[in-house]
Amino acid sequence: SAEIVVANAVKVFGTGTAAVAALQDISTTVPEGQFLCLLGPSGCGKSTLLNAIAGFTPLTDGRITMGGKVVTQPGPDRGMVFQEYALFPWMTVEDNVRFGLDIKGVPKPEATIAVDRIVATLGLSDFRKRYPKDLSGGMRQRVAIARILALDPPVMLMDEPFGALDALTRRTLQDELLRIWSEYRKTIVFVTHSIEEAIYLADRILVMTYRPGRIKRDVNVPMPRPRD
Ligand code: ADP
Ligand code: ADP
Repeated sequence: SAEIVVANAVKVFGTGTAAVAALQDISTTVPEGQFLCLLGPSGCGKSTLLNAIAGFTPLTDGRITMGGKVVTQPGPDRGMVFQEYALFPWMTVEDNVRFGLDIKGVPKPEATIAVDRIVATLGLSDFRKRYPKDLSGGMRQRVAIARILALDPPVMLMDEPFGALDALTRRTLQDELLRIWSEYRKTIVFVTHSIEEAIYLADRILVMTYRPGRIKRDVNVPMPRPRD
């Protein structure tokens, strides 16, 4: 299953007087299919928690499991989308989307079907042959999402993915993401410092404190969801 369990997670950066406790005994469970937002001001530990779930940041203490297996490194079951698009500038849109499938060894005809489907899903069909530098920020972020989606991970981890976009583009992509979330039944953990964005997107919001590393509130958002 795609359930994520965070048990007494502690992360300390640095040592001695320079030590920063970025996570202080965080415990929570993210059920499969949930859209969870991590909300809080800059420096409160959101990215650290997300990166620990991704397997990029080893914990100082405690543990994180996904589907009962301890997370020790990044894996194909967890796709990560960053604020900066992290696209390959020398590859076209469709090659960027295809890249992960090639790495995975997916046979070419199968990969082509998947790429076609995902490119269409994200409204990128007219942009397949373009290079990232010739795309707007919103389009680039669509490609970044498409790239992760092509690999079909049960969990998508997103670190302020729309933070650099103008308000209208951001709203469009938020709606696209909600559609994808309900259609593909992903578990999503989404970092934001925008209360508005968290309320618009999430099933549930973990509010982190301004001093790093603690959960202040755990709020369910009782709204009709697109999947209902
Ligand atoms: P954000 O607030 O958007 O998460 P930051 O600018 O705080 O971004 O941090 C970006 C990245 O830089 C973090 O994910 C972390 O890995 C690294 N970083 C943040 N603070 C420090 C620090 N004090 N020393 C070294 N690296 C840091
Ligand atoms: P947020 O994502 O909420 O902005 P971060 O998780 O990036 O917060 O950072 C939490 C705290 O940990 C901050 O005080 C930050 O400076 C510190 N930090 C993050 N990454 C590093 C790092 N690689 N080295 C040292 N300190 C870090």
